[in-house]
Amino acid sequence: MAGPRTAKGRAGRCVERLAEEYPGTTRDLCELDFETPFQLLVATVLSAQTTDVRVNEVSPSVFAGYPTPAELGAADPAELEELIHSTGFFRSKAKSLIGLGTALDTRFAGQVPVDIADLVTLPGVGRKTANVVRSVALGAPGFPVDTHVTRLSKLLGLTEQTDPEKIEAEVCALVPKDQWGPLSLRLILHGRRVCIARRPRCGDCVLADFCPSVQLPGVAPAGSSRPPAGSRRRGGAAGPKAS
Ligand code: SF4
Repeated sequence: MAGPRTAKGRAGRCVERLAEEYPGTTRDLCELDFETPFQLLVATVLSAQTTDVRVNEVSPSVFAGYPTPAELGAADPAELEELIHSTGFFRSKAKSLIGLGTALDTRFAGQVPVDIADLVTLPGVGRKTANVVRSVALGAPGFPVDTHVTRLSKLLGLTEQTDPEKIEAEVCALVPKDQWGPLSLRLILHGRRVCIARRPRCGDCVLADFCPSVQLPGVAPAGSSRPPAGSRRRGGAAGPKAS
């Protein structure tokens, strides 16, 4: 089957293939543990510059210690810093979380707003975090753009943009709204597990037959007039995986 030649065609194929590879809802696909939108917001703020595994080790104590926005807003900074110390950047994260609790309590009646324009006014909440919370916990469309989504969107020829907001706008124009969140979360999983930075496992990739950046011996990147990667270079990190 010939690979799709347009960004829209490739995006549609990504939606289908990645849904087969990583089934489930956005909530299933999100690797952060949480029960409520408030908890996901807190966990996402904690996840900056660390792993979801590390956040999941710490977040139960934070949720138990500060179960409501008002209680988080009234937290003692030193106590909160100690709880979240292992996630890194603990001083600025504690400051953001206290500000976040206060803002939710005083400006949004203790509720997490759905509107992205409101979400990004909260301390510690940028567009990426806002879109995570919208798509995973609030049932609203949202396309979070993190480092994996940035890298894979370019490798897959979905956009040439490098600015996250422009990537979001261009990729969202290629797929239906109800696929924004699922596609982003699946690209993140694919970036973590298969299309790993600097050592993509193209031999194990379900997108390899149409990916313009595929690197496999004897396989020319889709839409490329260049000779196959295997005839241009030897070795490298992108060959088929033995297992
Ligand atoms: S074929 Fe290779 S470069 Fe393209 S998405 Fe898959 S792992 Fe990444």
